[in-house]
Amino acid sequence: MVNFHCIAEGCSNDSRKKHNALKYPDMILNGCIVDFHVLPSAIKNPKLRKLWLSQIRREGFNPDPNCHWHALCSRHFIEGRTTKENAVPTLFDYNIYKTGIPRDTKNSHLRPIEQLILTTQLANIVTVSQLPKVPRQKKYIPDIPVISYIEKPSLDHIYCLSTEVSEDVSIEEKCVLLIENNNTLEQKCQRYETDTNQLRKQVKLLQVELHATKEENKILNEKFNNTDKLLKDKLVEKLTKSDSNVKCFLRLASISMLFGIFKLLEGHASKMKYWMGPDSSDGKRWQVNNKK
Ligand SMILES: [Zn+2]
Repeated sequence: MVNFHCIAEGCSNDSRKKHNALKYPDMILNGCIVDFHVLPSAIKNPKLRKLWLSQIRREGFNPDPNCHWHALCSRHFIEGRTTKENAVPTLFDYNIYKTGIPRDTKNSHLRPIEQLILTTQLANIVTVSQLPKVPRQKKYIPDIPVISYIEKPSLDHIYCLSTEVSEDVSIEEKCVLLIENNNTLEQKCQRYETDTNQLRKQVKLLQVELHATKEENKILNEKFNNTDKLLKDKLVEKLTKSDSNVKCFLRLASISMLFGIFKLLEGHASKMKYWMGPDSSDGKRWQVNNKK
């Protein structure tokens, strides 16, 4: 006998608990012990399988198509089991096992799956005329919660449903497409969020760069306003530009000779003494004392 463990996140139902179900409240649904519903076949029903997996929302969960023991318990189905109308699991830990509050509206005579499509129609996505209005059947369980967790999609999203799909597409398939579109939208939202975060980081980096540029600008401005230093630097630059300049202005043979002399003087430069007397060299006393 194959044992099943529910693959939904946050659900620990296991077929081995059936013998002792009273100990596990989650194993009881509407007074009955839960059943296990195997994941649709990857070969016979790939669309439905894909839809189940997208609803299960388990990151990195990609079960082997050849394994047939991946199952969900009844808790995840709106009717407590898979039916033609509600073949897709919708109740999970992430939506607190709720899909909305039942409402008595002008569309109440429609089955939840049609109501789902009609609620999405608010965003001008589905043409109402495409949907056949099926009266509620007697055996149908009344007051089933309306699936309202699907967020209203933005208008710029192009739905294949309104243009490309022909009239004879079944409601189930429309629902499949709608939920797929919803998942695409959620992924888009996540991408936008990531982009926004990256942009924020870039803005921060640019702000740092701007600050550095301002500092640099400040230093350059100071340098520019210090005319004496600027002239000195320019002069040195001009004098040491080429051998011919050195020869012309300083009467030295070459730049290397000039730097050689500087090298020789460098050691003594710190010991060099300038005029240390009480007066400056052009002071009156100095001129008087040195008069010839
Ligand atoms: Zn479960």
